[in-house]
Amino acid sequence: MPAPSVSGVRTIALPLGERIPVLGLGTWFMAEDPSLRATERAALELGLDLGLTLIDTAELYADGRAEELVGEVIAGRRDEVFLVSKVLPTNASRAGTIAACERSLRRLGTDRIDLYLLHWRGAFPLEETVLAFQELVEAGKIRHWGVSNLDVPDLEELSGVPGGSQVQADQVLYNLSRRGIELGLLPWCRARGIPVMAYSPYEQGRLLRDDAALAAVAERHGATPAQIALAWILRLDGVNAIPKAGTPAHVEENRAALDLRLTREDLAELDGAFPPPEEERPLEVL
Ligand code: NAP
Repeated sequence: MPAPSVSGVRTIALPLGERIPVLGLGTWFMAEDPSLRATERAALELGLDLGLTLIDTAELYADGRAEELVGEVIAGRRDEVFLVSKVLPTNASRAGTIAACERSLRRLGTDRIDLYLLHWRGAFPLEETVLAFQELVEAGKIRHWGVSNLDVPDLEELSGVPGGSQVQADQVLYNLSRRGIELGLLPWCRARGIPVMAYSPYEQGRLLRDDAALAAVAERHGATPAQIALAWILRLDGVNAIPKAGTPAHVEENRAALDLRLTREDLAELDGAFPPPEEERPLEVL
């Protein structure tokens, strides 16, 4: 069981030893609609207040405006936050990664990103991106680096690249309806102490619509289907989750999912509705 942090939010360790919250705040599709900005900002601020101090963003999201929103939220409280952002594969050459990071830093209004990820694999050799990441670490512009949407063969290739074993996380699609990683990627990462960051834990909301099993388990716990879907991920060692919640009410609900304990009966019922994989499958992406 991961150790609790001061705020009561459990944490998991990166390979280099630093601990990060098991539950963070996603930002995809934030900062798209100006009329939602105040609510989105309030949601992220409340998340930080409740100890969900990991914020996940990317240069991709809203063409950089999500990073600007995060910059507003973390202004004056930067040291509380473990900030994750991502470089697009089309920018992931040696020079391109460094330039993309500098643009992200400007939008985020900070001098450092805590964990900088390759968003998915593109045409540039991993070796080049890793060299850029190392240069950024040496310059103090990023503290750690990792990857996203990389399956086991890519991770194996990465381990063979000079410096590649310094990877600190793989951020991948994982939720009740996307369980493929349980047979390959998840055990591979666990064996090496590399955290799996579960993105789209609600399948972008689709998982929560009219699912009878989730509703039944939720009713037993006096909880919501979202809380059950999240608690199902958060029970796992070596995994954290980064749901996107655009309202303070959703943030509060998600935070409360950390206190739920699913029973063997709950897990069996969820396995019935969302069967675990029977054979290894290629990593799914959104
Ligand atoms: P998600 O977190 O699975 O779902 C977001 C949806 O769930 C939103 O519609 C949100 O509505 C709703 N929601 C949140 N909390 C809820 C609650 N308690 N009850 C009911 N509905 C709730 O989808 P996602 O945004 O795709 O994934 C999460 C984050 O992962 C992203 O924001 C991004 O940071 C990251 N991500 C990374 C990648 C990658 O390639 N690395 C890909 C996808 C996502 P409201 O907005 O109304 O709260």
